[in-house]
Amino acid sequence: MDAGKPNFTEICAILCIDTSSLFYRACSICERTFPENPPAPRCHHCAARNAAASTGAKRLFRVLMSVATDEKVFTAVCFDRTARVIFGCSADEFFEFAKLHPFAPAAASRVLEGELFRMTLSTPKTGNAQHLRIASVVPLRSEYQPVFKCLRERYGTRSHS
Ligand SMILES: [Zn+2]
Repeated sequence: MDAGKPNFTEICAILCIDTSSLFYRACSICERTFPENPPAPRCHHCAARNAAASTGAKRLFRVLMSVATDEKVFTAVCFDRTARVIFGCSADEFFEFAKLHPFAPAAASRVLEGELFRMTLSTPKTGNAQHLRIASVVPLRSEYQPVFKCLRERYGTRSHS
């Protein structure tokens, strides 16, 4: 990648997403990342500022995906704000949905396979981040349906009577 050009826009096709880890847990107030092990009961940062604050946890998207341009294939990471455009729901909503439908993450990857987006990509600012970051996405197809809508329609047609 051209290191002198931190932001660039490309037409990219999503090849697949890493379904093993789509979310991370964060403070519901300040959105600082919570450690997974051991699970943090509350946010120390917010508790230090306001002892009365009820600091719950929420999930945010962090999705690794393999994307292709006409020239190359690479791995990029997509954070919550951008992933919401692709998924059409919050990370908590998708997590709850995936509890009922365990194959939802795999189905999401299949739904996205080959889908074209105009992506703005930025090179990581911190030294330990290794993947390009997807700063924004715009679906190319005008009739693009967010993943969550597709999956709800797919699973919603089955009756559990
Ligand atoms: Zn916090």
